[in-house]
Amino acid sequence: MVRQVVESRREGKIRCDACPVMCYISEGRAGACDRYANEGGELVRLDPFTVLEAAKEGDGQLVPFLEIEAGEWDGDILRTGRPFITAIGAGTTYPDYKPAPFIVAQNHDGVDMVTIVTEGIFSYCGAKVKVDTDRFLGPEAAAVRVEGEAIGHVMTAEYGSQMLSLGGVHHLTGGSKKEGRVTCDALLRLCNRDPVTVTIDGGAEVVLAAGRPPVVNGAEEHLMRVGCGSATIGMFARQWQGLVDEVVVVDDHITGVLSEHQAGKLLGVEPTGIKILGHKSTPGRYFRVAGPGTGWGGTNIEDPLTILGPWRAGIARPGLTLLMVSTTGEQWGYYVLDDDLRPVKADLPESLRTSVERIAENCEPSVTSVLFMGGAGGSLRAGVTENPVRLTRSVREAVTSVTCGGAACYVWPGGGITFMADVTEMPSNAFGHVPTPALVAPIEFTMRLSDYAALGGHMDQVRRVEEIAGEIERRVSVRRDREG
Ligand code: SF4
Repeated sequence: MVRQVVESRREGKIRCDACPVMCYISEGRAGACDRYANEGGELVRLDPFTVLEAAKEGDGQLVPFLEIEAGEWDGDILRTGRPFITAIGAGTTYPDYKPAPFIVAQNHDGVDMVTIVTEGIFSYCGAKVKVDTDRFLGPEAAAVRVEGEAIGHVMTAEYGSQMLSLGGVHHLTGGSKKEGRVTCDALLRLCNRDPVTVTIDGGAEVVLAAGRPPVVNGAEEHLMRVGCGSATIGMFARQWQGLVDEVVVVDDHITGVLSEHQAGKLLGVEPTGIKILGHKSTPGRYFRVAGPGTGWGGTNIEDPLTILGPWRAGIARPGLTLLMVSTTGEQWGYYVLDDDLRPVKADLPESLRTSVERIAENCEPSVTSVLFMGGAGGSLRAGVTENPVRLTRSVREAVTSVTCGGAACYVWPGGGITFMADVTEMPSNAFGHVPTPALVAPIEFTMRLSDYAALGGHMDQVRRVEEIAGEIERRVSVRRDREG
């Protein structure tokens, strides 16, 4: 796309006006963000403008956007056979009173639709990262660092996963120049699905990459837990019945004990005289049996016997059998009480192996999930309509659909258009940056053409999808020329 250059040339350079940096760019060179270049005196956007059908036919890399009920995904995001206009490579308008770079109309099933696309410059943005592991990554609110700079913090843990909140305006613009640069670079790599190594104050070193297993302190995580210790007891109690006298499922949050748990009671499991060193919550459910860590069940223990106190004489008996297992089934130990009521390690009977393997089998693969989160602010909305609040209202009323690089967005309730989108549902390298520092992210608004007119859209800027085909071809040829 050739942009209109607002300011004139200087010593053979042209000025890019797509963001507040306002670079002067020499012939054949790119600007500070590598997104725009001076090609023969014209300012051009370098990355291909991604229209999903067009990309499928060319070299564009696509990822499946929707689950297909049967057969191979054919690259059609909406399964309609029509091109889907994304904002990837569309370019940016700055300042935003100008209409969005592409406002494209097309007919779908007899209805005139319009998609308005912009690569928004997001100073207020970040990533919410879900790390499927029970291992302790760091205390809540601890700083998450890259190159020693704080780029975010640890949030509350969720079921079987640790959560991180990264980026945000305070780290991008509120700290030192280096903090902003490092935060922006880390966000860019995360959103483009590249690996980022972070260290957490008082916790672990973690390699994060969207869609891939996390690596915690050098060890790749494989499984997320099947449930907490109590849930695991409930799920597998029947499979242990009659094969072992006692089972303890070790978990950082809720450790389960079969003979005391309601599941064991209902199945008639006899008391065993076991004593757990922890805080008893309800029967068969114990909190704080150990500190958090990267050992058994997200605790800091390597030897599970350390969570046991002396067995109660009169209830416990020599020969009593005990299975201890973690919530992923990756660690287990089988013991038999000796004459002094001390557990002695023994070989796991084949009859119990299946139940241990079944715990692991029921665990889902451990993955790092990255949701980009940003707000379509007042100025960005002005590129869509002259009356920005109407756009917000039409999103609220579900008249307008919001997508990010083609990926469905969750739009938060309340004011503004604050959205989250899964970066693995977008084509690769959908994100860019500018040195202000801020992330550049694609955002698309799709609605009926008649609704667009009603909300005060830039109707004089609407182009038919067939008209932009030439522009896409031009982009591809500029890129090929540059790549030699
Ligand atoms: S940083 Fe990029 S978008 Fe901003 S003015 Fe320079 S070339 Fe243009």
